[in-house]
Amino acid sequence: MLNSVRIRLTLWYTAAMAIVLVILAGATYLVLRQNVVRRADANATELADSFLATVNAELGDASKPDSVDDGISAAISEHRFRDVLFVVFDPQGDFLGATDAHSLPGHWASPTREMLVASLRPLVQVSQAFRTIYIGDREYRGYVRHFSIDQQEATLFVLQSLHRQNEFLETLASTFGIVIPLAILLAGAGGYLLAKRSLSPVVTMGAQASRIGSENLHKRLQVQNPRDELGHLAASFNELLDRLNQSFDRQRRFVADASHELRTPVAILCGEAEVTLAQEKRTEQEYRESLHILREEAKRLKHIVEDLFTLARADAGQHPLALSDFYLDELVAECSRSVRTLASAKQIKVSCETSAELPIHADEELLRRMLINLLDNAIKYTPQGGSVSLRCAEGDGQYRLTVEDSGQGIPVELQPRIFERFFRADKARSRGETGSGGAGLGLTIAAWIAGAHGGKIELTKSTPEGSLFTVFLQKTSL
Ligand code: ADP
Repeated sequence: MLNSVRIRLTLWYTAAMAIVLVILAGATYLVLRQNVVRRADANATELADSFLATVNAELGDASKPDSVDDGISAAISEHRFRDVLFVVFDPQGDFLGATDAHSLPGHWASPTREMLVASLRPLVQVSQAFRTIYIGDREYRGYVRHFSIDQQEATLFVLQSLHRQNEFLETLASTFGIVIPLAILLAGAGGYLLAKRSLSPVVTMGAQASRIGSENLHKRLQVQNPRDELGHLAASFNELLDRLNQSFDRQRRFVADASHELRTPVAILCGEAEVTLAQEKRTEQEYRESLHILREEAKRLKHIVEDLFTLARADAGQHPLALSDFYLDELVAECSRSVRTLASAKQIKVSCETSAELPIHADEELLRRMLINLLDNAIKYTPQGGSVSLRCAEGDGQYRLTVEDSGQGIPVELQPRIFERFFRADKARSRGETGSGGAGLGLTIAAWIAGAHGGKIELTKSTPEGSLFTVFLQKTSL
């Protein structure tokens, strides 16, 4: 049950509400109770003053008896209030007088003189002015006042019954006892409905999301209110679906293009083998020619498979960089030497200019592959007798590698696409001229290698007079 957010929200909300209500009710009760006591105490002080003033007045009246006891009796008979008792003791604890509660109309069942004496005599000597006093089972707010008239000491008790106030407080407490649980119940039910209503879009989104799979990745969640939090969540989820869909599309295209590229050399291999085997007898020369074709196509197939493998690992972020310290100028010179044989077959002149001692911390094998891809393209797309130049220099805190050729260049409208996978400006020319045309992956891999080293590659210029590719690499000293 606690696994439901709706229930958890309701419980939290109800618990918070219950705590607030209980604290509020408790505080109200205590404040009212304190108020009752404070008012009773103020009242008692006034009554005591008035009582003693009456005693004094009685004694000062020449026409009346002048003993203190008579004065007290007169004051007692004058001070008759509902719910208030006046009791007087002398300092020895002898009872001097008390209002007769029985004679008061509508008075509560008053305590007997014995009960008053038994409860109040022990308090005659106390100095504390206000205190709660129990007589029988009834609670009184008592005020103890010691006074002296005509050298006669006495103690006055003003006792106020808090019965009616207590009854009111009890009624209040029992009202709280009914209203608070009811309010908590209502709040709980309201909270539950509110949580259910607020979370219903999440439930709907969950149901919609569970119906989206690879076969219907184009579907999207409904955004009820794009401005609220759930709307943001749905929008983020839809953006995620967009990215996934694009990634799926890329993967599908990649697989389709890869199969297409692999089909051609495989078809050539099969066809060549079948043609050779169709005739029973062939000369050694014919067999050699066939084997030569088979080897070239197998090489091309191997090359494509290696490129595909590299890209697949790069996409999955699983192509580790084997970093080491070496000199870039040495690698550049080595690469230019290694393509000379290929270039001389087309009478292409390869030149190499590089600054000395360019230390770098990088993956040597990958940088070699990037350079060979660029040089290979330069030679492949440059006609007989042309030239290719490779330069390497340091500047602005980075290394700049350029590969320039005197080939026929790339049409302007196709230039932005040359780093795309499987893109070839002219498929027939790619395969035709060298017989080992690529699958359109060379520049993609070169761009990935530059990026993996924190650098970049760009086509700086390409005209019918030639192309210039520039690689920027982070300079890291040995
Ligand atoms: P490929 O294996 O076909 O050479 P690349 O990814 O290396 O694939 O190159 C993509 C396309 O870019 C090539 O098919 C070619 O059309 C064009 N290209 C690349 N380098 C050059 C260049 N130096 N001169 C002219 N065109 C080039």
